[in-house]
Amino acid sequence: MNKPCIIANWKMNFDQMGIERFFSRFSLDNVVLERCRAVICPTYVYLEKVKSLIGDKELLLGAQNISSEEKGAYTGEVAASQLADIGCRYVILGHSERRRYFNEDNELVNKKVKLAIKNNLFPVICLGENYREKEDGLTKKVVESSLRACLNGLNGFQIKKVIIAYEPVWAISTSPENVEGVADSPESAQVVHKLIKRVVAELFDEHAAEAMMVIYGGSVTPANIQGLAAMDDINGVLVGGASREADSFSKIIRAFI
Ligand code: PEP
Repeated sequence: MNKPCIIANWKMNFDQMGIERFFSRFSLDNVVLERCRAVICPTYVYLEKVKSLIGDKELLLGAQNISSEEKGAYTGEVAASQLADIGCRYVILGHSERRRYFNEDNELVNKKVKLAIKNNLFPVICLGENYREKEDGLTKKVVESSLRACLNGLNGFQIKKVIIAYEPVWAISTSPENVEGVADSPESAQVVHKLIKRVVAELFDEHAAEAMMVIYGGSVTPANIQGLAAMDDINGVLVGGASREADSFSKIIRAFI
């Protein structure tokens, strides 16, 4: 059985001092951390710094994106192989902010997923409906079609590396669609997570679906984590805002172990 995944998406936040402050306050020990996969995803420029501050703590290093190209003349891009080279193990792909501001679509995400796996990175594939789609009753349709497109062409070995993050766009704390700062309810997120596992079982097999970590993202905080963590098919969380405070991130980790 895979361990629950709790992933911090720091987005384009923090400076060196802020990162040092986070680590000086982060006090979970390895006995606790060994029971899950807790991953920190800073911006590229701070990956090495975070890696050195992690030291021998059982925290893992992740990035927020990779290039869709392997290597070469792509100014400003970062290759999957380069991330792997510096000890990065995870990468967030297809985040709704990349879809919204950088026009990324499922086809591009699929290409990046394959590149990530080829380079020994665990892809954390983000997908979820926006507010309009939710209001139109299209959640299941959007999630299922995104999932199928993002996993297109993967084989039984590759699927073992994949983590799916169900992130309803309307529930992300910084989303322009989330005016009230609401998270999805544990019960309705559970329904979508179950659907994701059913589709994975259909595309691959029951074993792949059971082993897959499907995590939830969208306004997760210490105040709402217990309800989410209690759901059968919520195998962890992707956390934005609440991951930047050591104490709240620790509380969120603890809910899964
Ligand atoms: C995110 O953007 O991936 C996210 C989950 O953010 P937040 O926790 O702030 O809603």
